Amino acid sequence: MTDAGFLRPGDDGYDEARQVWNAMVDRRPALIARCHDVHDVVAAVAMARREGLEIGVRCGGHSVVGLAVPEGGLMIDLTPMGEVRVDPDRRRAWVQGGALLGALDAATQPYGLATTAGNVSHTGVGGLTLGGGMGWLAREHGLTCDNVVSIQLVTACGDVVRASTEENPELFWGLRGGGGNFGIVTEFEFRLHDTGTRALSVELDFPVADAESAMARWRDLSAAAPRRATYAATVFGGIATLGFVWVGDPEEGREHARGLELLGRPLQRRVVELSYLDLQRREDSIEGHALRRYWKGHYFRDLSDGAVEALLAHDPSVAASVQAYGGAIAEVPDDATAFSHRQTAFEYVGAARWTDPAEDAIRIATARESAARLEPFASGAYVNALGDDGAAGVRRAYSAPKLARLTALKDAVDPDNVFHLNQNIAPSGA
Ligand code: FAD
Repeated sequence: MTDAGFLRPGDDGYDEARQVWNAMVDRRPALIARCHDVHDVVAAVAMARREGLEIGVRCGGHSVVGLAVPEGGLMIDLTPMGEVRVDPDRRRAWVQGGALLGALDAATQPYGLATTAGNVSHTGVGGLTLGGGMGWLAREHGLTCDNVVSIQLVTACGDVVRASTEENPELFWGLRGGGGNFGIVTEFEFRLHDTGTRALSVELDFPVADAESAMARWRDLSAAAPRRATYAATVFGGIATLGFVWVGDPEEGREHARGLELLGRPLQRRVVELSYLDLQRREDSIEGHALRRYWKGHYFRDLSDGAVEALLAHDPSVAASVQAYGGAIAEVPDDATAFSHRQTAFEYVGAARWTDPAEDAIRIATARESAARLEPFASGAYVNALGDDGAAGVRRAYSAPKLARLTALKDAVDPDNVFHLNQNIAPSGA
């Protein structure tokens, strides 16, 4: 890498490059390596190890606690590596390690193709895929990590290796759910699906005080829903919004929506036909940058009546979202990938957002309290929804046998824990 590839405090572009999605993150790396290709990544890893600098890896910058930005360390900034190549005949996409979800969708949709990606287009493919990757296509086509065919990565010793079911299969296993623990991914190869370009969103608003039976019925409908429907709900500001997203023929989605009449009379009903690309960007502004944020996550194997009650009792200033899993996600054998909790019925995220730093303590405490009331019903947590949960969070994200297998892999490929600014799988010697 030429020296021009590095940014230091005071350089033009330094402050912009160290900013991530959560405005609470205000850390100052000693160096930011703007990487344009795999050779730059190799050089950056070598330099960090030579100089004894802590490494942070940045793709979309959406780690809720800003794990990409090391205080006083070297931030390996992959954002210049954002390209996506598509072969529509072979239904494959090759995605550089710094790409955003929006680039993946934009490159595949002109052919009516897509692969599972998350709900906000400015999220990074890197962090999302390595932790699992949940999106509107997952019930039909599996998680994002289930659609990875191969990976190119730079290891802690600076080697460039490939991982797939044929090459380095154990590493490939760990990279599908184990997060950024095993190296820096410079390219993902994804399988694409013929999804078409159309979608439908159905949302019914109920007053929280009067939503208990509607939410219980919505939950029951979700269990029997076709895979094209992903049930999702939000409880925020005194309103419970219950509905689903349909990817495919909107008429079939409207037909399915008739079942929601069982929920009773809503305050408002929104049925919106939209393109898949617009669906993928729909939450971009509400989930935009420059706000202070705090999140807590849980997985539920079922949404018991007690859990429904606790969701509806959520503090109105903290948005509670739940999204259904099931379908193809649950069909992948549990030991096929490091991702755990395939039998999850719903994922919960409790999300607070605010602007005034004086409110930090109260906002964080309120979000923690609401999430704590749901914890007795939880079966674990999604690694990509963890924040400041530390080692206890990692134990919630993986079953004990998987954590042992991940630890053995870490011992083999990164025994010095060079890559530790992540939801860390600590080597056994640590
Ligand atoms: P970054 O902060 O850039 O990276 C996070 C960590 O991932 C890094 O610390 C590093 O350890 C690792 N990493 C990233 N790229 C690489 C790479 N190329 N090689 C090696 N390690 C890497 N998740 C879902 O599954 N579905 C959703 O719909 C969804 N929606 C979200 C919406 C918003 C607004 C936000 C903030 C998050 C959402 N998430 C979702 C969670 C998301 O998957 C995680 O926050 C994820 O870590 C973001 O990845 P990133 O690349 O943007 O983050």
